Amino acid sequence: MKKLGCLALCLLLLAGCGARRGGDRQSQSATLFAMDTVMDLTAYGPKAQEALEAAEAEVDRLDARLSAQRPDSAVWEINQGGGAPVPVDGEMAALLERALAFYGDTGGALDVTIYPAVEAWGFPTRAYRVPDQAELAQLREVVNGGAVALTGDTVTLAPGMKLDLGAVGKGYAADRIVELWTELGVTSGLLNLGGNIHCLGAKPDGSDWLIGIRDPEDEGETLCAVAGCDMAVVTSGAYQRNFTQGGVTYHHILDPATCAPADSGAASVTVIGPSGFTCDALSTALFVMGPDRAAAYWREHRDFDMVYYTQDGALFYTSGLEGRLTLRDGLEGQMLT
Ligand code: AMP
Ligand code: MG
Repeated sequence: MKKLGCLALCLLLLAGCGARRGGDRQSQSATLFAMDTVMDLTAYGPKAQEALEAAEAEVDRLDARLSAQRPDSAVWEINQGGGAPVPVDGEMAALLERALAFYGDTGGALDVTIYPAVEAWGFPTRAYRVPDQAELAQLREVVNGGAVALTGDTVTLAPGMKLDLGAVGKGYAADRIVELWTELGVTSGLLNLGGNIHCLGAKPDGSDWLIGIRDPEDEGETLCAVAGCDMAVVTSGAYQRNFTQGGVTYHHILDPATCAPADSGAASVTVIGPSGFTCDALSTALFVMGPDRAAAYWREHRDFDMVYYTQDGALFYTSGLEGRLTLRDGLEGQMLT
């Protein structure tokens, strides 16, 4: 186990922890705060410095567009529509189309109209509160991904509805950075966007990256490590944002069916695949679904991998990870086939 803890630590060191910019000519690292989280970026090769600058500018651009909180962001403008159509550009239309496709495909578990509920629980402002049953019932009236009307260049929300792209934004940002770095000719890089890990290519020496998945109950411990290259490794966990009131802990992943924190039996869900957006959307959705529905979803799709850790301490993983997953000593995992 200590070996894995050490690996995770090495990885973080490699990714350039701390508020600094540094590295030799062939690798550059930066740490920044954007999208409400700390981001560590490392690029290798002669274009590393240029790559970091491009990534920082892109993250700032996306933060300014996708934040539900920032006045004048594209999402904020959509949320002010009050029932009228709001013009959207091609990027926003494509993002919403993809997110709404997951709404349909996950039986509503991923619902980007969740924002009124996220606000009611106090997550954006950190002024946390527990809405009562009557308020939750009202929220359920306006949380409805099926009611988003998207044409090629406008989006219309019913009065009271509001979008939140928090469940997919970091995954999308990782995909965009990978695109920019690939255009620049960067063939090796590592992104950690607040728990959304993305590996570009292989490590500079050609070997696989090794990404530790943390133990939800213990920040200093890892459950397992996944080896691979050109992959997103995205985790949704109850430990990532929560508050405790009256002895009960409430976390930030809400079940759209109840508008309350998902009580699905999940402790953390990590999704591994080529697309940051897809892995981000699925990690949130599979958390909401709970272990049984998540396993059934994987069996139907089989185009991603996952490590699912339940509140009871059970771990299961999908067969694509066979030979790539190292479990910590003493932890048993069950492979889904
Ligand atoms: P993630 O960390 O990717 O799992 O996303 C969690 C964030 O997405 C939360 O902080 C909310 O802003 C938002 N969110 C919470 N529950 C849902 C849900 N069921 N569907 C879509 N977005 C959600
Ligand atoms: Mg997500």
